[in-house]
Amino acid sequence: MVEAAAAINKENIRSMVYSLDSYPKLNSFLESVDEDVPEPSRSSGLPKYKQKAEEINDASVFMISLVLIKLVSNDQILWQNPRTLSTQFSRPIRFQITKETTEVSATEKEYVEARVRTLTNTKLHVCEIDFEISHTLLFTMVDDQVCNAVTGTTSTQKCYICKLSSKVLKTFKKVGAAPLNRSTYQFGLFSLQGWIRRFQFLLHLLYKLPLKTWQARRKEAKGIVSQ
Ligand SMILES: [Zn+2]
Repeated sequence: MVEAAAAINKENIRSMVYSLDSYPKLNSFLESVDEDVPEPSRSSGLPKYKQKAEEINDASVFMISLVLIKLVSNDQILWQNPRTLSTQFSRPIRFQITKETTEVSATEKEYVEARVRTLTNTKLHVCEIDFEISHTLLFTMVDDQVCNAVTGTTSTQKCYICKLSSKVLKTFKKVGAAPLNRSTYQFGLFSLQGWIRRFQFLLHLLYKLPLKTWQARRKEAKGIVSQ
C-alpha cells in the first residue's frame, strides 16, 4: 500500500514541469510555493509559510552560543580560552528569528538544560591512549533581560538577585538585609554588559540632570529628556 502510494508520488513529482528561465523575486518566491508541489501531495489544512522579508530583521534574532572556557584534568588546566569574549571559540548552537520575550527566554533555557542533561562523555583515542571528557555547561553570558525572564522578575526596575526595586535600593536602607537568591550568581557578571550599563547610566544621568529624578514621569519632564 505504502509502496504503491510512493510510486504514484514519485511519478507525480517526475511529471512536474518547472520553468528554469525565470525566477520570482526574493521576497515573493514563497507565494506560489504550493504550485511547485504535485496536486495530490499539496497540504490542505496545514499552515502556509509565507514569511515576508520585512519581518526578518536583526532586532528579532534569538541566538544561543557555546563558548569553550577550559579543559582540565585532575585540577590541572590543559587548555584555557585566552579570550572568552571573542567569537573565536564561540559557536552558535541555536538560532531563531523570534522576539526576545520572557516566555521565549524561559522556554529556551529549559530546552537547553534538558539537552545538557542528556549529554554523554566524549571519548577520544589519540596516540594509543583513550581519553574521556565530561562536559560542564554553565548558563552565563546573558543580559539583564534574560536574567529577569528566567528568575521571574517582572519589573526592569527590580534587582533579580534581591528583588528590591531601584526606589528602595537608592535609599541604601534595606541593602544587604533582603534575602539573596544565590542561584542567580551562576549567571556571572558579563563585563561587556557591565561597561554598556555603566555608560548607559552616565548617559541617563546627564540627560536627567536638570530633573533630579530617575524616571521622567511628568509631561514636562518627558519633554526635557526627549530633547
Ligand atoms: Zn540586588
